[in-house]
Amino acid sequence: MYKLPRTLFALTAFALIGASASAASVRDDICTKGVFNAGVKYDSPPFGFVDENGDVGGFDVDLIKEIGKDLSAVCKKPIKVVLKQVTSSNRIEFVQNGTIDIAAATATATFGRMDTVDFSNTYFIDGQRLLVPAGSPIKTVRDLAGKRVGTAQGSTSEVNLKAAAPKANVISLQQYTDAFTALQQGRVDAVSTDSTILLGLKASAPDPTKFAIVGPFFSNEPYGMIMKQNDSKWRNFVNETLTRTADDGTYRKIFAKWFGPKTKYALPDPKRSEAIPPQFPVRR
Ligand code: GLU
Repeated sequence: MYKLPRTLFALTAFALIGASASAASVRDDICTKGVFNAGVKYDSPPFGFVDENGDVGGFDVDLIKEIGKDLSAVCKKPIKVVLKQVTSSNRIEFVQNGTIDIAAATATATFGRMDTVDFSNTYFIDGQRLLVPAGSPIKTVRDLAGKRVGTAQGSTSEVNLKAAAPKANVISLQQYTDAFTALQQGRVDAVSTDSTILLGLKASAPDPTKFAIVGPFFSNEPYGMIMKQNDSKWRNFVNETLTRTADDGTYRKIFAKWFGPKTKYALPDPKRSEAIPPQFPVRR
């Protein structure tokens, strides 16, 4: 019988063991560990932020808690939800290296990112705008030539800005809260990212009337939660939770809690739908 050379044998065995180990779904790992590690933002109110009491909360955080509830049901034991801070620049890496099981972190599902990770169904849709001091001469992206614009490293916002305002001086910081501090201190002339994050930053200022969100949307940002590639058992589970929250009214409740007309972060567009964006497949 043909004998495999020893090193080749060892390599083959290693590859097989490796393959079977990675075949286990994150969903099963969570059940085994009893812990669900979720990456959320601390700098993106009202999706993920630290409130006055030092608690981490937000729209993304509440959706994570719903996934946690469904995990406890499917694992048939209480699953502890552990929130871990992520930024725009490390959220993909943290999912890939297993630091977190998922990131619900204002992340736009892009085909580029899908080269290395998978996304859940779309759970929120936004677009990019500008946050400026009230009365600023900056009204649209066309006015950004020669101006300093703050945004976050690793975001689609910095990519969109460079394309839409090639003559702007784009300053990418670690966190959106850093960019907003820079605006408050006059170190940048504008901050640019998804409009709802801008709304959250503005609302968090001691005097929000000192700032204005201006210009039309200049990008399309469909949010999805980030998961490891090729783990359909886990991805489908997360999508089922999103569909469940849409069906049982939880999504609308969470939406109203953070963006409703009487909230601090009330969305300015009164015609904006409170429903989760339409999904495929549907629940029957
Ligand atoms: N949604 C955009 C992105 O995924 C901007 C917000 C963010 O940096 O999280 O990059």
